[in-house]
Amino acid sequence: MNEPIRLRLRIENSEVTTAESFEVRDPGRLSDIVGIVDVAQPSHVGQAVEAAHRAFKEWRQVPISERVECLVAAANALEQRAAELATLLVLEQGMLLRDTRRDVNNGIRSLREMASIAPAFLQPEQFEDEESLVRVEKMPRGVVAAIVPWNAPLGLTMGKVGPALAAGNTIVVKPSPNAPLAVSLALHTIAAFFPPGAVNVVNGDGDVGPTLTRHPLVRMVSFTGGTRTGKSVMACAAESVKNVALELGGNDAAIVLDDIEPEAVVPELIKGIFPRSGQVCYAIKRVYVPAAKLDRFFDTLCAAVDKFRIGHGLDERSTLAPMNNLQQFEVVQGLIRRAREAGATVAELGVPVDPSTWNDGYYVRPTVVKGLAKDAELVQSEQFGPVIPLVGYDSEEEALQLANDSEYGLGSSIWARDTVHALALSSRVEAGITFVNSHARTSLGEARMPFGGIKQSGIGRVRTEVGLAEFIEYHAISLNRSTCR
Ligand code: NDP
Repeated sequence: MNEPIRLRLRIENSEVTTAESFEVRDPGRLSDIVGIVDVAQPSHVGQAVEAAHRAFKEWRQVPISERVECLVAAANALEQRAAELATLLVLEQGMLLRDTRRDVNNGIRSLREMASIAPAFLQPEQFEDEESLVRVEKMPRGVVAAIVPWNAPLGLTMGKVGPALAAGNTIVVKPSPNAPLAVSLALHTIAAFFPPGAVNVVNGDGDVGPTLTRHPLVRMVSFTGGTRTGKSVMACAAESVKNVALELGGNDAAIVLDDIEPEAVVPELIKGIFPRSGQVCYAIKRVYVPAAKLDRFFDTLCAAVDKFRIGHGLDERSTLAPMNNLQQFEVVQGLIRRAREAGATVAELGVPVDPSTWNDGYYVRPTVVKGLAKDAELVQSEQFGPVIPLVGYDSEEEALQLANDSEYGLGSSIWARDTVHALALSSRVEAGITFVNSHARTSLGEARMPFGGIKQSGIGRVRTEVGLAEFIEYHAISLNRSTCR
């Protein structure tokens, strides 16, 4: 075990020490302390926002061509530290190394993506007739507060930093206390490529988020996290009419149509259900299959899931990692227990890699459940863990109605041999994103998919020009030509 990392606050590119701190433990080996993180007081949050506000005045004047050069330099610097950040992320967040590598790479890609699309996108549009000239400029909003969760912190954070800075805003980031280390180090690394105060990080406890989202100098809150927290963020932001972009929870349905067999679907379904031990906002969280095939689907899925090897994220033998935190661990255990009490068939599967360390981490066996009511708790709520309910349906219309009967609307998928039919059906799914014959995967790397949810899964989109547009204001300027004739 290495010495724990000591993480200070960093405001205006300077280190700030505070009186309080909290420990970060390894979710796969709870006896190990990975880091000690200084807690920001409300006054530090104020300092960070004021620094960002000062930096905004300078940064917004920097030509877009130079702003994107800074983003590319920041992406290059992150690339130099990618291996170190991915390993640290495993230790604080608990995921498999291959998943944390992907997270770091997603973060780097987000910076590069915004650097490449921003120059063309941010050009003003101009319209004219004989009497008038109208120019529509795309302006930065000001100080952006970015609040991020623990489950993919690098990708999600850089997914806010990239468009915010490309558009000319400055940013104050609040990481989750459940994974603050790698993301803070990454932000400290990139901050050096921007004016002091353009990129700030405030770690802390439950007071920091509300202090940040209420601060009158913050013009936009870009939040990713749970739906309940999102509502509270929105309420705080309303006090000074801030813009909000909310990426919230999901309860993604996978609808398997009757023309495809379990053996063909299950290997791909698994890739949509269990990444990061199910702790993905747009993982498959309920599966609808034809009622007559429910038992076959259950047996085939159980056989495949039983092959998972559950262990520490840095152990090369592991194919499923622990959960991130005690709260989520208990939520998932409770859902499994209550499903069993309700009379469902519950199969807890997989094999521990190292049984001697099982109780020193938030390890949960991947679990498949059938026989629940269609409105059961596990079907209706966001489990955010490695447990999946299979539900039978009698007709395609019923499957669609069950999938849509949710206050969530993030991702979804349809699985079928007849892809023309599946594509037609996909338009009727109430979700921000629908995949056909995959879930959360596309060879286009999602670079062409605006990402986000409808209903209580969020407001706004990230990625692509649509995501960049969240970080700008339109300024319409009209010239009356007749007076100068
Ligand atoms: P939380 O909502 O609990 O926390 C997210 C962040 O918000 C944390 O940094 C947290 O910090 C902060 N926070 C909590 N309360 C407030 C508040 N009142 N004001 C401002 N900030 C606050 O989510 P989790 O971290 O547990 O992440 C899991 C959730 O995130 C799941 O529901 C998942 O679906 C969702 N998610 C959505 C994604 C999407 O793109 N749609 C992507 C990834 C995850 P602190 O605890 O210190 O207060």
